[in-house]
Amino acid sequence: MRIVVVADIHSNLEAFEAVLAHAASGGPIDRLWCLGDVVGYAADPAACIALLRRYPRTAVVGNHDLAAVGELGTGDFNPMAARAAAWTGEHLSAEEHQYLSSLPFLVVEEDFTMVHGSLRWPEWEYLLSADAAAEHLRLQETPYSLVGHSHIPFVAVERDGSLPAMAALRDGDVLELGEERLIVNPGGVGQPRDGDPRASYAVFDSDACTLTLHRVEYDLEKAQRKIREAGLPPYLAERLAYGR
Ligand code: ZN
Repeated sequence: MRIVVVADIHSNLEAFEAVLAHAASGGPIDRLWCLGDVVGYAADPAACIALLRRYPRTAVVGNHDLAAVGELGTGDFNPMAARAAAWTGEHLSAEEHQYLSSLPFLVVEEDFTMVHGSLRWPEWEYLLSADAAAEHLRLQETPYSLVGHSHIPFVAVERDGSLPAMAALRDGDVLELGEERLIVNPGGVGQPRDGDPRASYAVFDSDACTLTLHRVEYDLEKAQRKIREAGLPPYLAERLAYGR
């Protein structure tokens, strides 16, 4: 099976379409694994949900998905994210609300646990430090796990007697999945934050037991234009160009 792993699409249809086209150019897409935050920030929430649902998939919920449907308060969001969450909620049908509300916090499939933030705080924790990775691994019951939320592609590998080893993942990096327990973040599709504006995703090849990271250019100007035309905060368009 060739499984495409996506996280933090954030209503950016141009980025999501580019990722799927790039993934399809490398072989069949047997399944999508989505690590949450399909919506929030950009201007195409309904189209991104529809595109996700076109594929056989497994998806967990993210904090922006919950905020858009009113199941998570936005008091802890920055004002632009809160404004985008309210806008998103108004631009989804009752059925789309229902779909986002139905997504679980955590899923186990094959040898992977999937969660948006971390196993400690599924919808909130930014898993970015070795300490946080250690706590997460303590709670992880499968060999591998996949997280999103920080929009930063990385791998954290468990180490006996010391903190996990964290490393950034770059375009074309291939992880051989073996005995080592690890955590992978495939980066953000719709709003990368590692300084590289290209959409980020990964492919899990279950026959070869590899995870490969990919970066893909997309029509960033079009996504920016839609954000501005929707009346969303202009900074949400600007930041796409910086990858922040
Ligand atoms: Zn996110």
